Amino acid sequence: MSSATDFIWRIFQQTMEADRKNVPTMSLSIDSMDGVAYTSNNGIHAGGAVSAPTTYKSIQATSRRSSPEFCYALGHWVQLGQGDRWDQGYDVMAWFLDYCEGLRNGFVAELNKKMRSGYSANYFVELLGKTVDQLWSDYKAKYKTNWTCLLSNNNGTQAVEYTVTNNAATTPGGMKFMNQIGIEYSRQTVISATDFIWKTFQQTSDADKKNLPKVSLSIDSMDGVADTVNDGVRVSANYIQQYTGDVKTEFTGVLYHEMTHVWQWNGNGQTPGGLIEGIADFVRLKAGYAPSHWVKPGQGNRWDQGYDVTARFLDYCEGLRNGFVAEMNKKMRTGYSGNYFVELLGKTVDQLWSDYKAKYKTN
Ligand SMILES: [Zn+2]
Repeated sequence: MSSATDFIWRIFQQTMEADRKNVPTMSLSIDSMDGVAYTSNNGIHAGGAVSAPTTYKSIQATSRRSSPEFCYALGHWVQLGQGDRWDQGYDVMAWFLDYCEGLRNGFVAELNKKMRSGYSANYFVELLGKTVDQLWSDYKAKYKTNWTCLLSNNNGTQAVEYTVTNNAATTPGGMKFMNQIGIEYSRQTVISATDFIWKTFQQTSDADKKNLPKVSLSIDSMDGVADTVNDGVRVSANYIQQYTGDVKTEFTGVLYHEMTHVWQWNGNGQTPGGLIEGIADFVRLKAGYAPSHWVKPGQGNRWDQGYDVTARFLDYCEGLRNGFVAEMNKKMRTGYSGNYFVELLGKTVDQLWSDYKAKYKTN
């Protein structure tokens, strides 16, 4: 309790007794009661466990670690920029005050001094030159992208900046995303999917990979499940909302598929769409995220039907030659030819497809 008091006096820049509240005695008791704790005048009552003296203190104590170089380790980063109103209190407001503190060192101390005798919303203008509403919208804008993280690949020469943004935070699907999946999990999944895709494609050096300085993932109100345009992946908040079942696993599988589109070669636009989609689902399959409703091996009408049908066929080809999909992707860096199947497996794709169908017909 005395170290908390020292800390609080320091935060409030109260160096002399005249600056401080005159409190001759202070009590802390552990009581059988609802809630976590409460304070009335100078008596603190805690329900079993004592939490940090003020939320601001705990935020202040951890905020030094909330810098980009630590972003791998920080679950609490996702709280930055969240909340609906500046005066929502507790952690929402603590992060906001921490932002204000960043604009003016000692801001919270000055605000507390001003509140000795009264309160006016104009205090924010006096201290920071802006209304609190303007500050709140600056703050929200700054953290709209909830995190930005630099990831160096294996040899560390190429860095990719990943961002995750929930653009549908106020919709039921956007809220379900925050509750059941979350920014931090999405960030980790985007990074691990990228590693997995590079490994599947046998791309070990920068020269093998697509050169993308940034990749963005966003949750949006949109039709369909998800889409990818260049380095931007969007997942539908509506889809998340209406999905019944394990939405986190489904979301993960969708990300492996979409992230494959981000990194795969497309033969300069000449690769058939069915093969592009088949490779994306092949990666999803190999990562262990094939949904139960997919076709079984041997099912489907054409090799280039796309999605799960083509993914199962590619898995058969992979069984004939280990690394087949990686080699195929390498060839598609500059163009596409149906002859790639012959070059890699010694048979036309039509012959391979009929071998594949024959194999599973008897099974
Ligand atoms: Zn796709």
